[in-house]
Amino acid sequence: MCAVVKADAYGHGAAQCALALESEGAKWLGVTTTDEGVPLRDAGVRCRILLMTGFWRGEEEEVVRRNLTASVWETWHVKDLDQAASRLGSAPQPVHLKVDTGMGRLGISLEELPAMCKLIQASPHISLEGFFTHLASSEVLDAPDVARQMERFEQALGVVRAQGLSPGLCHMDNTGGMVSRPETWKNMVRPGLALYGYTLPLVRAGQLTNDVPPFPLRTALSWRTRIVSMKQVGAGQALGYNGTFVTKAPSRIAVLPVGYADGYNRELSNRGRVIVRDAYAPIVGNISMDLTLVDVSAIRGVEIGDEVLLIGNRGSLSVTAPELAGLCHTVPYEILCAISKRVPRIYAQ
Ligand SMILES: *Cc1c(COP(=O)(O)O)cnc(C)c1O
Repeated sequence: MCAVVKADAYGHGAAQCALALESEGAKWLGVTTTDEGVPLRDAGVRCRILLMTGFWRGEEEEVVRRNLTASVWETWHVKDLDQAASRLGSAPQPVHLKVDTGMGRLGISLEELPAMCKLIQASPHISLEGFFTHLASSEVLDAPDVARQMERFEQALGVVRAQGLSPGLCHMDNTGGMVSRPETWKNMVRPGLALYGYTLPLVRAGQLTNDVPPFPLRTALSWRTRIVSMKQVGAGQALGYNGTFVTKAPSRIAVLPVGYADGYNRELSNRGRVIVRDAYAPIVGNISMDLTLVDVSAIRGVEIGDEVLLIGNRGSLSVTAPELAGLCHTVPYEILCAISKRVPRIYAQ
C-alpha cells in the first residue's frame, strides 16, 4: 500500500499522519510534489515517498539527496535525474513510470512507451521500480472507461516487458478502485480518502449501489469550534451580510468563530447544519470570513463556550464531509483539503 498524504494529508496534517502511518507499518507514502516530500523527510519520515506528480526541472538533486522517488513520464525527467544521480555518485535512482491509459492527464502515451523504455535502459543511474496509471472513474462499477484503462494498462505492461524491463511494483488504484475492484489491485494500491475514513459512493447503471459490501472505515477527523457569543433577537431581524436570512419569530442565535477563511465553505450559508449539545442547529445567514451564525432556539441550555461540531458525530447525530460536499456541489476531498491553516490540528492517540 502506498498511503497518500498529499495536500497536507487531505487537511489532516501530513507530517503527523505520515509518522502515524509509518509507525503502523506503511512502507510507502504518496505526495504530489518535491515541496510536499521534503518536509516529511525533515519531520523524520523514513519510509519511501513517491512524488506522484513528478518534479520540476532543477529539483532533481534534491529528489536524489532526500531519497524521494520520482514518477516519470517525460524524457527530461529521466535524463535530468540520471545526470543528478551520476553527479552525486548515488546508487541508481528507482523511478515509477506513469502511463496515460485514458485519463488524459499525466503520463506517457502507449506510442511513446517503447522509446521511453529504451531511454531508461540506456540510463545507467535509473532503474525502473514501478509502473502505474490512474483511473478516471474507479467508483463507477460499470464504467466502460475503466475496462478500457485496465486493458491498456496490461497492453502497456506488455510493451515494457517486451523491452526487457520488469518493474516490481504495478499500481493503478485510488480509494474507489481499492474498495470496489480487487482485479485492479495489482501489487500496490494508492488510497488517500479511505485512510481518512471515507469512500466515494459506488455507482452502477447511473445509480448509487450497495451491491459491494461496505468497506469498514472510521472517520479520522472531527472539526470542532465553540460558541463565542449568543444573542436573543426578535422576529424580522436580518442576520449577517446582506441580510439573506430574516427571523420569522423571536430566536436565539449562536455566533461561531469560524468562516470561509477557515475553509468553512460559503455555500453552506443558509443550508448547512452543525451539532450543538444533542441537536442539529441550522446555519442562518451568510457565512462570513471569520464568523457563522446558527439558530439554537430549539435547543435548551445553550451557552457561550459550548462545543459545536462542524464535522463529526455525537450519539446518533452526525455531520460528514460527504454531506457538506453535497450541499457545496463538490466532493468530500475538497471539504477536507479546504480546512485552512488557521484551524489548529489536535491529535488524539
Ligand atoms: C490523490 C491520488 C490518489 C489517491 O486518491 P483517493 O481517491 O484519495 O484514494 C492516488 N493516486 C494518485 C496518482 C493521486 O493523485
